[in-house]
Amino acid sequence: MIYWDNNATTPVADEVLEAMLPYLKNKFMNPSAGYQAALDVRRAVDEARSQVASLMGADPDEIIFTSGATESINTVLSGMLQRFGPGSIMGTATDHDAVLHVLAQDNNRILPPSTLCPVDQQGVIDQSVWKKRLASGSVCGVSLTWANNETGVIQDVLSLAQLAHEAGVLVHVDGVQALGKIPVDLHRVDVDFASFSAHKMHGPKGVGALYVKRGSVCPPLLYGGGQERGVRSGTENVPGIIGFGVAAQLAARRLQDETRQLESLRNSFEECLLRSLDHIRIMSSAVSRTPNTSCIAFCGCTAQALLLLLEPAGLLCSAGSACSTSHPRPSHVLTAMGLSNEEARSCVRFSLSSQTTIEEVELAAGLVISAVRRVRLAQSSRTGPVLVYRP
Ligand code: PLP
Repeated sequence: MIYWDNNATTPVADEVLEAMLPYLKNKFMNPSAGYQAALDVRRAVDEARSQVASLMGADPDEIIFTSGATESINTVLSGMLQRFGPGSIMGTATDHDAVLHVLAQDNNRILPPSTLCPVDQQGVIDQSVWKKRLASGSVCGVSLTWANNETGVIQDVLSLAQLAHEAGVLVHVDGVQALGKIPVDLHRVDVDFASFSAHKMHGPKGVGALYVKRGSVCPPLLYGGGQERGVRSGTENVPGIIGFGVAAQLAARRLQDETRQLESLRNSFEECLLRSLDHIRIMSSAVSRTPNTSCIAFCGCTAQALLLLLEPAGLLCSAGSACSTSHPRPSHVLTAMGLSNEEARSCVRFSLSSQTTIEEVELAAGLVISAVRRVRLAQSSRTGPVLVYRP
């Protein structure tokens, strides 16, 4: 099986699992307890904090451990909304639902366009609108996504955050798909808050981080025992935190050695498809993307039909983000980039990992080419349109 859905989640690295196991067994003590064995656990949590901080160029005391990026995002943005009021925080049109639904304070409501900054056809934030909205005086905080989960598009967070700060506006960045894939240096890129998840970088699920710049205030979402400097109460997920620390160490090493190789594998895959198939479009190929992500529109096919052929053939990939699979409306990310509903429904996301090999690339390309040809043939022989019914 070829697993190419690493933007949804990644397998836990062997080293991560090995480091976690003792904290599920004999090192199970509560890190807030006072005896020696618990103090050792506390020390291990603090070491993990340093490892995670180091990967993102932060200081350890700027890291709050949470249950994942969704919780980190909810904490920051709910705090900002409480402080500044509804409609005062500007997101961007291609943000993850975890951001959009907090800003809407509703899991179903669609935000009015006036509270979202648009993107261009490549998925890059329109800086002229960004500046205009900041100058309007109605925006007190902004949230933007460092690297998009569907297209891999990397935003110029440095400039966008600088513009926001010049306007006296607080900045939150969703760094989930950036951390471990591209350099993230929060000493250089000045944001007030940032959210991350361990499971997107070969760490465990159920643990994340919230970066709170020294001096910034972040009211808690959860109240209780006052852990994590009072920002996130609740007994720490110690095994998860230890695993996150080791995953961060591994990612730092990988970033130095493997990024270019991964990008070249992704590019080979895309070139192979472009050579063999007409009428396909690589999303955001003209701008910076994370090296593992390839989102491709296959004209004349629906992604659902392709996935139905690819899964039994042994290639796991996705149509849009994992969270949107349960409600198959066209991706808001792709429609925000100007795609029609039909084009958006024809897009498949392939997200590779550092474990991807050239053999996998060749095999996967062959599977995709044959699936596209089969679906197109079915369409042209008037068997179609190919519909997929899910029970
Ligand atoms: N933000 C982005 C860009 C994501 O890709 C995801 C997960 O897919 C999230 C936020 C939410 O992360 P989690 O589900 O780990 O809380």
